[in-house]
Amino acid sequence: MKDSNFLKEHNARSLWHPMAHPADSLANPPIIVTGASGVRITDVDGREVVDAVGGLWNVNLGYSCEPVKRAIAEQLERLPYYSIFRGTTNDAVIQLAEELRAFFAPDGLSRAFFTSGGSDSVETALRLARQYHKIRGQGTRTKFLSLKKGYHGTHFGGASVNGNANFRTQYEPLLPGCHHIPAPYTYRNPFNESDPAKLAQLCLAALEDEIAFQGAETIAAFIMEPVLGSGGVIPPHESFMPGVREICTRHGILLIADEVITAFGRTGSWTGSRHWGVQPDMAATAKAITNGFFPFGALMLSEAVAEVFETDTSGKGAIGHGYTYSGHPVGAAAALACLAETQRLDVVENAAARGDQLYRGLLRLQEKHAAIGDVRGGHGLMCALELVRDRASKAAPDKTLGPRVLQATYEAGVMIRVSGPNIILSPSLVISEADIDVILAALDTGLAVAA
Ligand code: PMP
Repeated sequence: MKDSNFLKEHNARSLWHPMAHPADSLANPPIIVTGASGVRITDVDGREVVDAVGGLWNVNLGYSCEPVKRAIAEQLERLPYYSIFRGTTNDAVIQLAEELRAFFAPDGLSRAFFTSGGSDSVETALRLARQYHKIRGQGTRTKFLSLKKGYHGTHFGGASVNGNANFRTQYEPLLPGCHHIPAPYTYRNPFNESDPAKLAQLCLAALEDEIAFQGAETIAAFIMEPVLGSGGVIPPHESFMPGVREICTRHGILLIADEVITAFGRTGSWTGSRHWGVQPDMAATAKAITNGFFPFGALMLSEAVAEVFETDTSGKGAIGHGYTYSGHPVGAAAALACLAETQRLDVVENAAARGDQLYRGLLRLQEKHAAIGDVRGGHGLMCALELVRDRASKAAPDKTLGPRVLQATYEAGVMIRVSGPNIILSPSLVISEADIDVILAALDTGLAVAA
């Protein structure tokens, strides 16, 4: 490995970082990660810390997951690549599709369309939603509805349904016909409603209102994360997603669950939709499907949606969409091993228990640190702290606060993620009780910089 100074210098001059200003990356050099083991990462200077981010909400089984590493190595040896475009397929991807069918059976999802990541899975969902309606002779259904604060990746389709201006403004004009409704975000919402159940009803009414305004016959799909992730971990009231399901069904609108973060155990349930007792028409997955070890994703489709394509005789059901890496055998082998290990370890149980421990610990930190305006979580291992200037006004904190808390927390032994005013915590689902305590103690130290 090159030495620390070489890496720092060349990082600065040769590469751009996603979701960062190039000038900022020059002024504040990033931490160079060079190793990882269990739930810990090691930087180029030899410091080892607990990764409270779990990679990027994807390393659900930790960094040492040997079965996934072995599966990747073996598949690379046997068949490193072959495409599954019309006319060919590969054994690994067939096996994976069967396993996913079993895994997602309670969600009513039985077909897989493979992709290279979350943005691809979302893009696939949006395209296939339009095509579904076209096959059925409802070609006027082209619009998409989604939640403000939602995050659906960075392709033009996903960016168009994203609900955060930071990911939109510099790239406009985006896809026409994408409309957003308020998120069930209890801490801040246009209704000034702090009761989660009442807020859910108000947001559902806003959805009904938007559908009436646009005309149901113009809307292809509603896309939502079962628990909003990158927008700052916003779990809706339990009535929200079932309410969305009912409204979509009544209006012939497809419900796309963006499960890129929530599938495979993160919420303390096997999928986010199942967490709320909802069966979506499609579910976009990626991230933990390969434990983050290989770029891969799958869009899962319901039997009813699949049937429309499969029984089409007009030709409109031909899929004019797909990626060179759709069904990559190495990704498929990784996902197969990952699925087996995820189920063998029964990670949902630990995700629920450790998620509860983390959430309660964060609520205790809120009593001590005035900079914590809101604590969100309580649904598995996805939690967030929203930092404020002061609690009464809920004014956003100084922009430097998040990075300063990150630095101090890192020095205290834990990597966290800062996104705007939010500190996001999403450790691996195999994390121990003791390591959750390590995270809480380091945050306690790190938050002291806000005093
Ligand atoms: N949807 C959601 C809910 C996500 O959280 C993300 C990534 N954070 C994406 C889509 C995009 O996934 P990717 O970065 O793999 O393209």
